[in-house]
Amino acid sequence: MKNGNIWILNEALDNTLSPISTEIMSKGRELADALEKELVVIELGYENDEIVKEIGYYGADKVIQVNNKLLKHYNTLGYVKVFDNLMDKYDPSIIMIPATYNRRDLAGRICAKRGIGLVADCSKVELTDDKKDIKWIRPTFDGKLFCDVRITSETMIATIGKGSFVAANRNEDNKFEIIKEDSQLTEEDIKTKFVDFKKSDINPLIEKLLNSKVVVAGGKGLGGPENWHLVEELANELGGAVGATKVVCDLGWCDKNLQVGVTGINVKPDVYIALGISGAIQHTKGMENSKVIIAINNDPNAEIFKISNYKIVGDLFDIVPLLIEEIKKRK
Ligand code: FAD
Repeated sequence: MKNGNIWILNEALDNTLSPISTEIMSKGRELADALEKELVVIELGYENDEIVKEIGYYGADKVIQVNNKLLKHYNTLGYVKVFDNLMDKYDPSIIMIPATYNRRDLAGRICAKRGIGLVADCSKVELTDDKKDIKWIRPTFDGKLFCDVRITSETMIATIGKGSFVAANRNEDNKFEIIKEDSQLTEEDIKTKFVDFKKSDINPLIEKLLNSKVVVAGGKGLGGPENWHLVEELANELGGAVGATKVVCDLGWCDKNLQVGVTGINVKPDVYIALGISGAIQHTKGMENSKVIIAINNDPNAEIFKISNYKIVGDLFDIVPLLIEEIKKRK
């Protein structure tokens, strides 16, 4: 691995730090400490002083800030030119970029321009035992397999999927340096014109699933749609959201938007309660970063127990009604 620092390209919307950035910052910090490198976050935008400060609170050693009106909205040519110039000047060794639409666009273009290897949509990033290389791990075949990809070019770039890591902690005492750089951009560099930005409406079920501290998820162990009310009742009593496995969504026992997993929603609540869920990797990839996982399953060898903090072996039809009753009593 060549010398040079670890870079993260920040993702922001309306000058607000995106959760995906703080997630990648926690991994960036871990790698920087292990490799004795500096963690540098690149923030390209306009009137972005506040966000630069925020980035520093999440563990960066340095934030390189480019503040230019031409960077107010993402545009491929402008952003690529500035990022490319910064790479020429600072020569980083590892670059992690959020796998969002705009950042993916930039990553592909930079890699093609500079002849750098890119691993897209990683869900895990690990140092090899000798610390000389990085295992870029990404789902393949729709999440059925995970492959370990290595980059052979000196500089490495990877895009990282949402929810891959637990977010870094915010600490206002963190010491960091802000480096202000010129964009070297002119109007002529930008060949596109920003017209309008329209936010799409997020489905309220998904919104609740993403923002609830408690998620109660049901699987095929519920036996049929007539029993789905048990998942909803337990979630209601706990003030949480309802989640589901793909199988039950496909069977139409609940709304399809409730699916948790690689082809569904990625959640990280404080508490995830899995009822009658076997723990297939396609499901656990979407909830394994929850702070506390409680599973109820009548099979003592169920895979879900391997990632659970509390394991309840038994029939959910005996246990869940008792739980609901007990919670009601304590209210
Ligand atoms: P099962 O695997 O059938 O498990 C049911 C569990 O309930 C069992 O462990 C059983 O012991 C337990 N049980 C039965 N009766 C009781 C009882 N009375 N009390 C307690 N426990 C009981 N799945 C997802 O969830 N999300 C995804 O995003 C996703 N994406 C996929 C993408 C692809 C390309 C493929 C091929 C699959 C995907 N899957 C996904 C499906 C995944 O592989 C599993 O099939 C699915 O997660 C299993 O759902 P389940 O746990 O509800 O059912």
